[in-house]
Amino acid sequence: MFMAAILRQKSLQKCTKYQSFIARRLSTISTSNCNSNDVVLEAPKIPSFDYKPKEYKGPLTDDVLKKRKTYLGPSIFHYYQNPLNIVEGKMQYLFDEAGRRYLDAFAGIVTVSCGHCHPEILNAIVEQSQLLQHATTIYLHHAIGDFAEALASKMPGNLKVVYFVNSGTEANELAMLMARLYSGNHGMISLRNAYHGGSAGTIGLTALNTWKYSIPQGDIDHVINPDPYRGIFGSDSSAYARDVQDHIDFGTCGKVAGFIAETIQGVGGAVELAPGYLKQVYDIVRKAGGVCIADEVQTGFGRTGSHYWGFQTQGVVPDIVTMAKGIGNGLPLGAVVTTPEIASVMSQKIQFNTFGGNPVCSAGGLAVLRVIDKEKRQEHCAQVGSHLIERLKHLQQKHDIIGDVRGRGLMVGIELVTDRAAKTPAKTETAIVFEKLRELGVLVGKGGLHGNVFRIKPPMCFTKDDADFLVDALDYSLSKL
Ligand code: PMP
Repeated sequence: MFMAAILRQKSLQKCTKYQSFIARRLSTISTSNCNSNDVVLEAPKIPSFDYKPKEYKGPLTDDVLKKRKTYLGPSIFHYYQNPLNIVEGKMQYLFDEAGRRYLDAFAGIVTVSCGHCHPEILNAIVEQSQLLQHATTIYLHHAIGDFAEALASKMPGNLKVVYFVNSGTEANELAMLMARLYSGNHGMISLRNAYHGGSAGTIGLTALNTWKYSIPQGDIDHVINPDPYRGIFGSDSSAYARDVQDHIDFGTCGKVAGFIAETIQGVGGAVELAPGYLKQVYDIVRKAGGVCIADEVQTGFGRTGSHYWGFQTQGVVPDIVTMAKGIGNGLPLGAVVTTPEIASVMSQKIQFNTFGGNPVCSAGGLAVLRVIDKEKRQEHCAQVGSHLIERLKHLQQKHDIIGDVRGRGLMVGIELVTDRAAKTPAKTETAIVFEKLRELGVLVGKGGLHGNVFRIKPPMCFTKDDADFLVDALDYSLSKL
């Protein structure tokens, strides 16, 4: 206990010192002039948007922060030196307490798929709420079946049986349970640098232990990450796949029940797995008696542009697919889809989830699927995403600090390094530019093992003008470094 308190105190002191260092650097940036060789850039302006936020009369930043600090757990964190009090959202924009508009390039961690307060989705939620908010699956209600049917129609192969839960963590817990029951084995394999949730079980799958508790959850092996940029085998997917075989043959997880992976690691910094990796690994895992789970919590619903599901970019069909976040456009909603064969093992006992598939979330989720199709969001992600990536790659030629630009559609990562050859993480610079972007009105995410990757995953209504504004703001901020 005592040791833990000292460690916590030390880490808080470290945080405070780091924060004041960033603050000092920021004040120099905003007051210093460009050196005479620099092309003087003008601060870019946010694209126009025909919407006036409502007048906000609620509590202000200091009060909100004080209450959070007093009553919420000490590990709850916020972005930015001066945290943002966000009070309204409209499509790809957010508004703070003073009515200032920001471009939301992170969509509340990829949660808002179609846009903040999308009118059609909002309408479906409100209409259902006014009729009946809650009835568990012990009674009949058409909404859960309608939504399951629509979701199953989006899945390839024999992935036709749907389970509804309330979050990504819960979806992955259920998937792990299914894998163990179906295979009769206990071992799980996940990738280093992955994130699969915050519960006791899914923390075991999550190997980003720099900021998550590394409490062993038993029989879980973390294999070498097939990361084309930082991975030890580059893009050689066969070499990474051999590591999976080695873990099955000699690892600690024992007989394998399942393998789980995101196709593009989200929290890990928009890392796309080496091409061809999943095909080889799925073969290896299935031969060993395990099942293959695709975590689509961030990559699903057309975000990658080229495909509706992330796993399709690797040409595989999983045995179990988990999803959350974008599926509800902000509603607490998750799902697991699997084959009738795997589902049949779940029928040996009762499977019950109080809120899973409730009428409000089901009506909202169904509206999300409808809007994605109606507004052709997948095609839109492909078009705007390739424009964004092209412009970012161009910017990479101008700024040496941009070590890597990667991703697909509207799931993009920009990794900053102080030395391109050594790939030294530019941690401090990332933190400074992150603050500067916010000053300019652009909200992005930050991630990766070293916290040196900007994560760009906006609502899927993000336009080419928004992409240009983001790139110009990044250019401006990097030029001022
Ligand atoms: N899987 C992935 C890929 C995620 O990114 C997350 C959340 N960041 C989760 C699972 C857990 O989802 P939730 O926070 O809804 O429990």
